[in-house]
Amino acid sequence: MLIKGKFTTRAVHAGQKPDPSTGSVMTPVYLTSTYVQESPGVHKGFEYSRTQNPTRKALEENLAALEGGDYGLCFASGMAAISAVISSLNCGDHVVSGNDLYGGTYRVFTKVFKRYGISFDFVDTTDPDAVVQALNPKTKLLWLETPTNPLLNITDIAKISKLAHEKNVPVAVDNTFATPYLQEPLSLGADLVVHSSTKYIGGHSDVVGGAVITSDKSWRERIQFIQNSVGAVPGPLDSFLLLRGTKTLALRMDRHCENALKIARFLSKHPKVAKVYYPGLESHKGHLLAKEQMRAFGGMISFEFAEGFEAAKKMASQTKVFALAESLGGVESLIGHPATMTHAAIPREERLKRGLTDGLIRLSVGIEDAEDLISDLDQALGVRAR
Ligand SMILES: *Cc1c(COP(=O)(O)O)cnc(C)c1O
Repeated sequence: MLIKGKFTTRAVHAGQKPDPSTGSVMTPVYLTSTYVQESPGVHKGFEYSRTQNPTRKALEENLAALEGGDYGLCFASGMAAISAVISSLNCGDHVVSGNDLYGGTYRVFTKVFKRYGISFDFVDTTDPDAVVQALNPKTKLLWLETPTNPLLNITDIAKISKLAHEKNVPVAVDNTFATPYLQEPLSLGADLVVHSSTKYIGGHSDVVGGAVITSDKSWRERIQFIQNSVGAVPGPLDSFLLLRGTKTLALRMDRHCENALKIARFLSKHPKVAKVYYPGLESHKGHLLAKEQMRAFGGMISFEFAEGFEAAKKMASQTKVFALAESLGGVESLIGHPATMTHAAIPREERLKRGLTDGLIRLSVGIEDAEDLISDLDQALGVRAR
């Protein structure tokens, strides 16, 4: 059931009509691997739960509706979703990717798919010339992340998609940081949207999941073929938890964004902070573009600690409300040190080239009270490194 309407209405209702057999308002968790058939090949659209499951189907329709796409396909993790997109390419194909991206994405591109003969070039996608120069006749995909992780760079999705399409190169956007509430890549011209639904979509740090959304029928067929052939699908309970998550996505994002802006302003005035990366700050180089292509600026902040590596590591372990942990997008605030945690898979020289220094701290700002979060950071920043 592809419900129309504004975002919050779609979030609560799309894909989730009451269960016809009982009237259950919430989509049941269909813990079944198989489905009875009336006669061979005659069934209700469900044969085997790797291929289709009603709880997963509700989630797929819900996420498609939230992204303004026609088709949603869900996976067991964000990495499984990303791998499904790249698995649909052939040996010899070339991919141009942004150069500031999730460490696991960089790893699967360079350490897994490269071995199968797919080549990757990493460029600064905030620079349209750099993107155009990297495209060649073998390029079969342009991979964007915006805002990027962890430096929150903003790429102009509409402009870059147009340039890529002039060379017949389809565009995929990892929309994990923005969520469909803050940014709709398909409406800006992208062909595919990818999510780690582990993050804001789930929103409660209790489930790992991924999704691909598209309005292009041939892409849908290709990705669905991989989904069913490879089988990295989410289970029905995971799908249920994610459906519960999307219902409050807009409310949570409003608070994440509000808190993050307050914290970014606090940090930018703090003497121990050398630089703050948050697209909501006027000083951020992607601020105007973010204002245009996003509803608000998100809940992620990175900042450079003036006193370097040891001091940054120490600071990251001194917070009491912010938990020191990988991941992001949950209701609780997290603090991380990308160089030793989320981005340790990227060689140090590569990291430094991109501006990801050893003194960088990343925050996933939760929905707690902003004043409590600020005083927690304030006390942690005050602690001296030995
Ligand atoms: C976490 C993350 C991924 C990977 O998703 P998993 O669910 O952890 O497999 C991909 N892209 C971004 C931007 C992420 O933050």
